[in-house]
Amino acid sequence: MARKFLVVGNWKSNGNVLEAMEIVNFLNQAQVPSQDVVEVVVGPKYECLLPVKTSLRPDFHVAAQKGGLESGGAFNGELSVKTLGCLGIQWVILKHAEVRQLVDKTNESAGDRFVHALSVGLKVVVCVGETLEQREAGSTMEDVTAQAIAIADKVSNWDNVVLAYEPLWATGTGKVPTPAQVQEVVHELRKWIEINISTEVAYKTRIIYGGSVNGANCKEFATLPDIDGLLVGAASLTPEFVDIITSAT
Ligand code: PEP
Repeated sequence: MARKFLVVGNWKSNGNVLEAMEIVNFLNQAQVPSQDVVEVVVGPKYECLLPVKTSLRPDFHVAAQKGGLESGGAFNGELSVKTLGCLGIQWVILKHAEVRQLVDKTNESAGDRFVHALSVGLKVVVCVGETLEQREAGSTMEDVTAQAIAIADKVSNWDNVVLAYEPLWATGTGKVPTPAQVQEVVHELRKWIEINISTEVAYKTRIIYGGSVNGANCKEFATLPDIDGLLVGAASLTPEFVDIITSAT
């Protein structure tokens, strides 16, 4: 089965419920390819999850931007994966480049979150990517595969896992890598999966690209041979996102 193109809009902590509804309005009216061709997911911040989930067209899905705990308990402010299930949320984004840089810095720290999310049937977008210093030092693949190892150590079934290659230096910065730089890393990552996990997992696991994607540059990333979708931050808040959704077709 071919890997279905996936476009994820990560709204970060932007906006309020009214502003989220404005985005929902233009998405609900957008003419886009059918969900058999392109899968669309948007990730509002926590307080907008339920309003967005209840108003968004049913062929688009909603992701939480975190969700680590198995259930409840004395973990003030944390989101449990069971709560996400009750809200009808089917996706979660873990280890986002900005989270990796600012809050949750080690490769291993997402392990339990990952396991809990998969255990309740959530689909997980998990991000990997190098810093500018690592790229300049020539250790990009070493760093990306170290992050992949921390994920692979926790996953036995890859059906609900999407890897997002998000160079930290390109995420939220407006700095855009060349398509060749992206293709090189993603191709190597897929080869790594094939050698270290299995040919089947390498073939079926979607690897998407994120980092300063916009309406003008989306097509050149969307059409790279090893890219199965896009993870979009700033541009997912604007009608440009509709062009990005259609970029692979
Ligand atoms: C993101 O938030 O995942 C992202 C890639 O941000 P931006 O598109 O703004 O770089």
